[in-house]
Amino acid sequence: MNPRHVLILGGTGEARRLAEALAGEPALSVTLSLAGRTSNPRAQTGHVRVGGFGGADGLVRYMRENGIGILVDATHPFAARISQNAERATTEAGVPLVKLERPPWQAVEGDRWVEATDAAEAARLLGAAPRTVFLAIGRQELVPFAAFSQHAYIIRSVDPVAPEDAPAGARFILERGPFDAAAERALLEENGVDIVVAKNSGGEATYGKIAAARALGLPVVMVRRPRPPAEGGIATVEEAAARIRHMAGLPVERGE
Ligand code: NAP
Repeated sequence: MNPRHVLILGGTGEARRLAEALAGEPALSVTLSLAGRTSNPRAQTGHVRVGGFGGADGLVRYMRENGIGILVDATHPFAARISQNAERATTEAGVPLVKLERPPWQAVEGDRWVEATDAAEAARLLGAAPRTVFLAIGRQELVPFAAFSQHAYIIRSVDPVAPEDAPAGARFILERGPFDAAAERALLEENGVDIVVAKNSGGEATYGKIAAARALGLPVVMVRRPRPPAEGGIATVEEAAARIRHMAGLPVERGE
């Protein structure tokens, strides 16, 4: 185990930026791990590995075999399984865990949020009357909406959605963020959207639709995070980079 061998569990912009921030430090060996869900992921800096580890035990094995001394969980706040695995694996392997987690969005004046525990509840909360629904929750969570076929759905995702995974008659937008509020407002207006369904991902990159819904007075069904915020979690890439440098025994003054 080498405190200068860092494994970043990624799949987020923060993980990519953290890998970039650490790439200029020759004393560190940094690997970014992706699940492999996106067919055409963004270009990443440095060494990248792709695919699951085979549960927490597989992650322990990988860390031992590769002498990983610091594990960083910079996965998406809705990726609950890998975060649980990271906690279990670091406890078992005696490797320190750094948790990088953007804070959830908070409703502000003018927001019309209805909170849901998961996608199934979000689908029920759309109500009986037909509505035009903007679904920006990722292609893995669409199944519950199929049962509520009175609505017209507009679905945005990074990769194409298999027709059997989406409600009948849905329209699709294939696009990768970030999305700014002005463009999101135009999209909602042009498509006659009545209601937005979103996950409380936090961060700037996908906040545009929330700001746009507020500006248009539209309701948002906001799916809560699957887990409460991690204790000792770090909110920014800069703080995480400084923490890792400190843990690796490197000076932290330089710009962090
Ligand atoms: P998940 O349910 O927590 O993870 C499912 C399995 O995928 C894990 O058990 C693990 O397989 C593998 N996995 C997940 N992240 C990995 C990583 N960074 N490196 C290697 N293996 C990984 O996660 P998910 O919700 O399916 O999300 C998959 C990935 O997409 C995550 O990396 C996440 O950061 C990213 N992402 C998710 C969302 C979202 O809304 N869920 C949004 C944007 C990006 P093994 O058990 O075999 O190790």
